[in-house]
Amino acid sequence: MSHTSRRLGMAGAVLTAVAIAASPAGAGSAVAGTECFDRAREPYTSQVDSHLHFRPFGGPAIGFEELTGYLNKSGVRHASMYGIGQMLPVNSPCTYYLNCPGTPVVPSMKNDFANAENYLAAKPKDPELAVSMTFMDLNHPETIPPGIALYDKEFPGVFRWAGEVNLVKQALFPNHHTAATSENIKNWAPFMKVLRDRGIPITIHSDLGNNAEQTKYLPLMEQTLRLYPANKIVWAHMGLSKELTTMDPDRHIKIMKRLLDKYPDLTLDLSWRVLEDNYFSKPGVREKYAAFFDRYPTRAIPGTDFVASRDKDYNTYAQELEVTSRINKALNDRAFRDIALGENYYRLLNLKESAPRVCGAA
Ligand SMILES: [Zn+2]
Repeated sequence: MSHTSRRLGMAGAVLTAVAIAASPAGAGSAVAGTECFDRAREPYTSQVDSHLHFRPFGGPAIGFEELTGYLNKSGVRHASMYGIGQMLPVNSPCTYYLNCPGTPVVPSMKNDFANAENYLAAKPKDPELAVSMTFMDLNHPETIPPGIALYDKEFPGVFRWAGEVNLVKQALFPNHHTAATSENIKNWAPFMKVLRDRGIPITIHSDLGNNAEQTKYLPLMEQTLRLYPANKIVWAHMGLSKELTTMDPDRHIKIMKRLLDKYPDLTLDLSWRVLEDNYFSKPGVREKYAAFFDRYPTRAIPGTDFVASRDKDYNTYAQELEVTSRINKALNDRAFRDIALGENYYRLLNLKESAPRVCGAA
């Protein structure tokens, strides 16, 4: 090979690499139906982020354009634009509630308004964003329908998701949060009807339990599913948390299967690196969960649970996306397409988009 042709060859390789990196479709979905996704050559990171907090608990946020830039750069083409279900008071120096026990945190409309305004100013097509109502205080359900009415007036048609909202989140107990009661859950009926009528999914954070009492709060989630079986309920983190790190995976999977079988509109949210760190990464456990998702390929959606506080940058986002996507590598082609390439997410939102098929898949 001559000097010249070697250099040209190099340039060609560089150009190809640039073209792949710059292609937002990264995935070969540019021409739907004519190209396929090659799992051997293309990234295993999820192409949708269904659980992304554009607003922090307190303090400054990463700018909207910067954050959507992170998504472009990492091949995430669709995301749900969450506010945050628990805000610190404006006069608090805290950016993370765990650092400030005793400081009350409450749901707020402020972050939803900020998200809606940023969204309307930019209306990005790539990434495409589903703005979410995060203000809902499940312990005070009577405040929710008037809140939705206010959003309808100020931002008609903008909000297409609800959540992440907290049914029970033990990590917030030191900050005056208490679990919603059975009575509260009954009183959700009016706002759950609005969500149902509009086909809006709701992501509910509901801890399954803790290491001492592993299914302590399961009855609350079961009551929710029983009372609202036709709502598109998304169970954040499959009920797992930093408080519940030692559950037997077989026991956990068995509970998930039972509820998925009983409630066809239930979807599991696989966001948060706690799932990888405390469950999927342990010896023998990844295979168990992969087999579970392979059997229920249409019932889970991916997400990072990244919280956009200003002390983070692209590297943090890229890392959280990579860690929460490791489970994708263990999935079969069908589950990979449905979960990682976004088919389930698209269907949940009634988007016209469809995920590319995986090369060689049946
Ligand atoms: Zn979250």
